[in-house]
Amino acid sequence: MSSKTRDLLQNLNSTYVNLHQKFEELFWLFKMGDHSVEEAMNETEKTRDLFRSDAGNLNCVKEALTVSGLANDEVKRLEVWKNFFQLYQTPIKLTSLRDKISVLEGRVAKKFATRKEGYKDPNTGEFVPASKSKIRMIMRTNSDEAVRKACFDALEEMSLDAVGEYVELVAMRNQFARALGYDDFYAYKLRLSEGMAKNEVFDVFGEIYERTKYALADIRDLEAIKPGLRKPWNFGFMMTGSFTLEEDPYYIFDEALMGWGRSFSALGINYRGGKLQLDLLDRQGKYNNGFCHYPMIVNFNDGKRNPGAANFTCNAIYGQPGSGNLAYETLFHEAGHAADRLASEQTEVCLNTEWPPASIAWAETHSQFLDTMFSSIEWRTRYAKDKDGNPYPLELFERKARQVRILSPLALNSIMMVSEFEKRVYEEQNLTPEKVVKIAKEVSRKYTDYSEDSLWILSVPHIYDWENSAYYHSYGLAILALDQWRKYFYDKYGYIVDNPNVGDEMAKVWKLGSAKTFPEFVRMATGKNLSPKAFLEDVTMNIEKYLARARRRIERMKSILEITRPVELNADIKMVHGKEIIADNSVSFEDMARKYGEWLHKQAK
Ligand SMILES: [Zn+2]
Repeated sequence: MSSKTRDLLQNLNSTYVNLHQKFEELFWLFKMGDHSVEEAMNETEKTRDLFRSDAGNLNCVKEALTVSGLANDEVKRLEVWKNFFQLYQTPIKLTSLRDKISVLEGRVAKKFATRKEGYKDPNTGEFVPASKSKIRMIMRTNSDEAVRKACFDALEEMSLDAVGEYVELVAMRNQFARALGYDDFYAYKLRLSEGMAKNEVFDVFGEIYERTKYALADIRDLEAIKPGLRKPWNFGFMMTGSFTLEEDPYYIFDEALMGWGRSFSALGINYRGGKLQLDLLDRQGKYNNGFCHYPMIVNFNDGKRNPGAANFTCNAIYGQPGSGNLAYETLFHEAGHAADRLASEQTEVCLNTEWPPASIAWAETHSQFLDTMFSSIEWRTRYAKDKDGNPYPLELFERKARQVRILSPLALNSIMMVSEFEKRVYEEQNLTPEKVVKIAKEVSRKYTDYSEDSLWILSVPHIYDWENSAYYHSYGLAILALDQWRKYFYDKYGYIVDNPNVGDEMAKVWKLGSAKTFPEFVRMATGKNLSPKAFLEDVTMNIEKYLARARRRIERMKSILEITRPVELNADIKMVHGKEIIADNSVSFEDMARKYGEWLHKQAK
């Protein structure tokens, strides 16, 4: 490799790692509740964005590509950067608009993080302080309908907190996307993150909606024997609320770390020497949605691989029903994201981040694949045990399935609902707060068929934030892909839980970072083009077939030995609470889990 090319590549790689790190470290502090770093965070974000959109960088790479006698490897590496910079090109005239958007988004984020959250107790009339996640949980599990309704009302009211700012954001984002030649911001984001056009996604979603909407009619029929079922504050509670309580003893928060560690270790998941930092409990001022970000991305220095680092979080409330389940879900989901990015072997660091050219749908395919492994009956009967060691009962699984299976055809509805809402909002001419509310209500009716209007969509944090807006479709695409992948694994190996072959095949695609597009990766992993077939087959399967399949899968696990060796994930792990370090795995994973469990006990209120 010529020294000039080598210097250019080294410079691009180290600069991007650096800019990425500076922003991500402050991003984490801010999201975990230290709002004093906001200005510095915005500055570092701007600097990172300017690097990506700098026409000078693109020109340098283009020029380097014109040099004669380049080796194949040099061309390949330079092409990666050329594509990368091309994705982010922003004319200089748009930078002040982009800044204005960031500032307004920052204001909205602060408003959400500092507002007084809670609901009005219907019995005493008093205001009960509670975070949004807590209110949601109460609405799903409290047996008093008046309390559930009060929680619903509180959430609806909160949904309107930033609707004015949202309208402004949509207008500015559209202005930005149109200046780049796109129809609107949705089309721009979709092209950037998945390389797809709106009709490619919404044609598939339309087909799924048509093929599954019979379930909405089934629920209307069910309401005849369950009066009030379609009221939004009753639906979750009446369908699954009692199960949340009944299942709770099998998802012990204190055991979640061990369950995660043993299960990932048995799959052979390897963080390749990376660092993980986990902040699981809810706090005032903490961002109220789980996520995984990477303060350090995998990079290479003179051929030496430097491992990455991941931070992840959720808003579990210790002692509250369902919190153990949430902790488990976060560990499987977010640690799945981390496993993917930290296993990359790509020399060009722009292929090792979660940002484009990374596909969100592909990232979610891994995290949600691991979610579905956690929620599978085979996993539960092996790992989800109550304090006396009794495994999650098959009888409970069956009873729950008989009640909630009616909902499974609608598995993609909330995702399709948010996607359609955003698509319509960005397509709407002369958007106003009234129009936003109207679209939110219409879309909610279409996908939930609740008997009352709801503005729930406006409480989805993603829509307020540049990076995460016009994004929900990716969750849907991921579910289609992972169902296809699950089918592939079951057909090939007969089982997934504790199967090192599954971990192996996952690691093989993880090595490629963002070197392929989502459709290419799906084809590579599953041997087939992406289609809704496996998903539809799964969600429309009738209850008897579904239960028979579950029994077969449990039976299959009987010949698979349980792993008893110590947990080994090849990672430095820290359990934190804000800036406080609670435990780490410097002695062992088991030691960390025990210390964290002891600390948790002290948090019970
Ligand atoms: Zn995710």
